[in-house]
Amino acid sequence: MPTLKCPVCGGPVEVPDDAMPGELIDHDCGVTLEVVKRDDGSIELRPFEGVGEDWGE
Ligand SMILES: [Zn+2]
Repeated sequence: MPTLKCPVCGGPVEVPDDAMPGELIDHDCGVTLEVVKRDDGSIELRPFEGVGEDWGE
């Protein structure tokens, strides 16, 4: 189980081995993090800001 760094509070976030891109993880600091897979296969976390703002329709 990889442990990544929370981009918001800097604390450790335990990510399940089978985490899928797009999966949402609630962190202890109250933020919701989205699992994002990079082209090289590594995983990063970014704050999930909710749906509807990025689609521009
Ligand atoms: Zn956090």
